[in-house]
Amino acid sequence: MLIDFHTHIFPDNIAVKALPRLQQYSGGICPCGEATVSSQLKVMARQGVDKAVLLSIATNPKQQRNVNDFAISLLKDESLIPFGSVHPDSEDALTELERLKSFGIKGVKLHPDYQGFFADEERMIPIYKKIAELGLITVFHAGVDIGFPEPVHCTPSMLKRILPLFGDAPVVAAHLGGYLLYDDVVKQLCGTDIYLDTSFSYGTVPPMYAKRIIEKHGADRVLFGTDMPWSSPENELSFIDSLQLEESEKQKILYKNAVSLLKL
Ligand SMILES: [Zn+2]
Repeated sequence: MLIDFHTHIFPDNIAVKALPRLQQYSGGICPCGEATVSSQLKVMARQGVDKAVLLSIATNPKQQRNVNDFAISLLKDESLIPFGSVHPDSEDALTELERLKSFGIKGVKLHPDYQGFFADEERMIPIYKKIAELGLITVFHAGVDIGFPEPVHCTPSMLKRILPLFGDAPVVAAHLGGYLLYDDVVKQLCGTDIYLDTSFSYGTVPPMYAKRIIEKHGADRVLFGTDMPWSSPENELSFIDSLQLEESEKQKILYKNAVSLLKL
């Protein structure tokens, strides 16, 4: 069994335009697949992924409803686990979170760089509290985003500061807790209740850093992710293999933690 906790797809008509643009922002990474539902299902079948969490981002308030309607429309495919998104400037962010929950959406993705906020900004508190009340899972893009200049909008210390606001609702920090900020991850996040995903590590994260983070944090709160289409399951699996973890730790990371978190 293999569960990918971090993938991105778009409606077919948007994927054609969005993919080349995002590829350009990210310095020309070659995408794995076309970032559409059908393309992702093909990659998953070919590379042995049983289920994938789909992370969409509302990059402006007007988009919020469409992004979430797209997520809701994907609930019918049992190998896909769509998450929604709310924009901090949207007047109805809180009721939108309730709507997502009522349809059975299990979580939301927040991307502070794309959505123009700092993770520990005060105006985010009502959103975090509503998420806590509804028990949704929150995935944060964490650390540097290669498509954006500094400052980093979601650092390990910001995450540590806001974590209590979520109560028992699970928080996942993508990219091992902070892309390119691995010393801070060890200092600020290892040992807390936060989950870390392993997405976009192949070829970018020195394995000894990842191993150190996983050892200090514990494999119980680490989730396998790819960041598809920006990396492939095959490559990210080979990264996990390169860490030479215990078999029991690997199983937790590759699917067991995700099964319990997503209540599958
Ligand atoms: Zn991503």
